[in-house]
Amino acid sequence: MPTPTAYDLTTDQRAILGSLQAFLKNKVAPGAAERDQSGEFPMHLARELGEMGIMGAQTPEEYGGSALDTATFAMIIEEIAAVDGSLCLTVASHNSLCQGHILIGGTEAQKRKFLPDLASARVLGAWGLTEPESGSDSGGLKTKAVQNAGGGWTLSGSKNFITQGSVGGTYVVLARTDAPRAGRSKTDGISAFVFNRAEVQGFSVGRKEDKLGLRSSDTAQLIFSDMELPEDALLGVRGQAFRDVMRVLDGGRIGIASMGLGLGRAAFEYAARYTAGREQFGKPIAANQGVSFRLADMDVELEAARLLIRKAAELRDAGADFSLSASRAKLYATEVGVRACDEAIQLLGGYGYIKEYPVERFWRDNRLTRIGEGTSEVQRMVISRAVVARYSETLIGA
Ligand SMILES: Cc1cc2nc3c(=O)[nH]c(=O)nc-3n(C[C@H](O)[C@H](O)[C@H](O)COP(=O)(O)OP(=O)(O)OC[C@H]3O[C@@H](n4cnc5c(N)ncnc54)[C@H](O)[C@@H]3O)c2cc1C
Repeated sequence: MPTPTAYDLTTDQRAILGSLQAFLKNKVAPGAAERDQSGEFPMHLARELGEMGIMGAQTPEEYGGSALDTATFAMIIEEIAAVDGSLCLTVASHNSLCQGHILIGGTEAQKRKFLPDLASARVLGAWGLTEPESGSDSGGLKTKAVQNAGGGWTLSGSKNFITQGSVGGTYVVLARTDAPRAGRSKTDGISAFVFNRAEVQGFSVGRKEDKLGLRSSDTAQLIFSDMELPEDALLGVRGQAFRDVMRVLDGGRIGIASMGLGLGRAAFEYAARYTAGREQFGKPIAANQGVSFRLADMDVELEAARLLIRKAAELRDAGADFSLSASRAKLYATEVGVRACDEAIQLLGGYGYIKEYPVERFWRDNRLTRIGEGTSEVQRMVISRAVVARYSETLIGA
C-alpha cells in the first residue's frame, strides 16, 4: 500500500504506485544490499522500469513517454528511494536532467531523435554540468565549444561526477561557446549540446568514482578531446543555455527532494518497527518517551517535507514559478531525510552500524541528496536572495 500521506491518491496514482511497489518488492529489494557491496550497475532493472513507463515518466506520449504530472513523479521517486537509493538516482537524473533538458531546449527534430530511446530506457541519459574546478559555481565551467568554419562544433574539456557517465548512450553537456557580453554575468555565453555517444569521435569516459553511498549508481568523468559534433547538436539558444540549466535544476530538485524523503522514510519505518520489537529493561525501547518522541518528530518532519515537495510539484504542473518552492523542498526534505537516517542508526544502537541492517545504507545513500543538484548551502543562497528581495522594499530601521 502507498504510504499514508496528508493527500489522497487518484485512481491512476494508486495503480502506478501499486505496480511499482510490487516491482520494487519482488525485483529490486532482494538485490539492493548486494549491489551496494558490488557496485554493479543494474541495467536490467533500468530497462524493466523503461518498459513500465517510469524512465520517461514526464516525457509526452508522442515521444514515447508516460506524460505523468510532477506530483506523481515525486511519489514514484519517493517509492524507489525507499527501496534502492542507487536505482532512484538513476531514474531521477535520467528523467529530470537529461530528458528534462531536451524537453525544455530541444527542437522538434531533437526530441524525435533522442526522447523515444530515452523514455523506453533502450538508451540511458546523462547530463554534464559539473567540472573539476566548477561545482556550485557552475557558471565558471571551462569546457569549450568552437564553431567550425565548415559547420559543426569542436568540444574540449571534461566533466566530473556525471551520473550515468559510463553507462549512458545520450549526453547533454554544457560548454562555453562565447565570452560573456558586456554587463552580463559569466553564465552568459554558455551553450548546451546533445549527442549520442555512438555517433561521435573524441569522447571518452575517465575515472569511475568509488563512492560512500549510491554505490550501484554510475558516476564517472567525461573527457572531450576535440570531440566533433554536428551543427544540430546545439540544444537551445547559443550562449543562453544557463536559463534552461536553471529550469532543469529546479525540476531536478523536486526529484532529489523526493529521494531524500524516500530514504528518510525507509529509515524511519525500519526504526519504528525495530524499536517496537526490541526489548531492553523489560519493555520495548519504543515504550520510552525518549525514543517514541524522536519517532514523532521524524514523522512530522517527513510529512512536512512531503507537503513542501507537493507544493513545488503543483506549482510546476500549473505552469507557475516554482523555483523558490523547489529550493525550499530540496533543502528541507534532504536535511530532515538525512537526519531521519542518522536517528534511525541511533535508535538501532549497534545494529544500526552493522551492514546486515539496512539503515546504514540508507544514511550513506541519502548523504548525497544534500550535495547533488545544488548543495544545501546553494539552496539557502536561492532562498535567502528571495527573502531579502521580498522585504527590501519595506525596510525597518533604515
Ligand atoms: C554521486 C554524485 C552524482 C552527481 N551527478 C551529477 C550529474 O549527473 N551531473 C552534474 O553535472 N553534476 C553531478 N554531480 C555534481 C554535484 O552537482 C556537485 O558535486 C555539487 O554541485 C557540488 O559541487 P562541488 O562538488 O564542486 O562542491 P563545491 O562547489 O566545491 O562546494 C564545496 C562546499 O562549499 C560550499 N559552498 C560553495 N560555494 C559556497 C557559497 N558561496 N556559500 C556557502 N557555501 C558554499 C558547498 O555548499 C559545499 O558544501 C554529482 C555529484 C555526486 C557526488
